[in-house]
Amino acid sequence: MVLADRVCKNFGTLQVLKGISLEVRRGEVLCLIGPSGSGKSTFLRCVNHLEIVNAGRLYVDGDLIGYRERGGKLHEMSPREAALQRRDIGMVFQHFNLFPHRTALENVIEAPTQVKKQSKDKAVARAKDLLDRVGLADKADTYPAQLSGGQQQRVAIARALAMDPKLMLFDEPTSALDPELVGEVLGVMRELAASGMTMLVVTHEMGFAREVADQLVFMDGGVVMEKGDPREMLADPQHERTKSFLSKLL
Ligand code: ADP
Ligand code: MG
Repeated sequence: MVLADRVCKNFGTLQVLKGISLEVRRGEVLCLIGPSGSGKSTFLRCVNHLEIVNAGRLYVDGDLIGYRERGGKLHEMSPREAALQRRDIGMVFQHFNLFPHRTALENVIEAPTQVKKQSKDKAVARAKDLLDRVGLADKADTYPAQLSGGQQQRVAIARALAMDPKLMLFDEPTSALDPELVGEVLGVMRELAASGMTMLVVTHEMGFAREVADQLVFMDGGVVMEKGDPREMLADPQHERTKSFLSKLL
């Protein structure tokens, strides 16, 4: 579902991604960890087409991201082509980014009605199912400010799912939450994983990584330092940098 082949990204002279290679198979969950500034968000943003890679290739479900091949040459995609590609990828951010002046339900139907031109009835029915799925059936008409952080993040997940994505990206979805609210969001993510969704998750919740992830990737300084089975890696990290990073988390 995701194939990154030596992906590089710079901002001016700052090299942020220095050849990231990884693969996420359909139905798999990959957790990405690493110190602040190591390039985790930038990598997710490249996958979601919010940034364009400078070198290397990135594919989602077989589609080259960001570029079109024409006459044997690669051309940067138009914003319209990019938007089309992004429709199939859901993203959940640390700060939930809900529309504050819309209810939970209105947040969830926004993209299906505006982008996919779904009928309002159909979008509302689906949104109710999704809110039910994230445990918020009774909050459909509530505005974000009246919801806890954990509830807002669950609305954000429902909103992403409303577009029927084939891939879900999570960028530190629980980092902004009070500790007692983390579990409810991880619970929803756990169920999503169990339902077969392909997920790329930046998180420092090692319990989640250990139990849910198929692969764990440790990034440092724009490179993949170590990757493997989460249980093996957490029990016996091979690199000094991985050891030192993990010891600080615990
Ligand atoms: P992480 O998510 O691992 O904390 P980021 O991907 O957010 O790391 O950032 C990696 C590096 O890239 C940081 O040094 C950050 O300052 C830099 N960076 C990220 N986005 C931009 C941008 N749009 N312009 C310039 N530098 C950026
Ligand atoms: Mg980040």
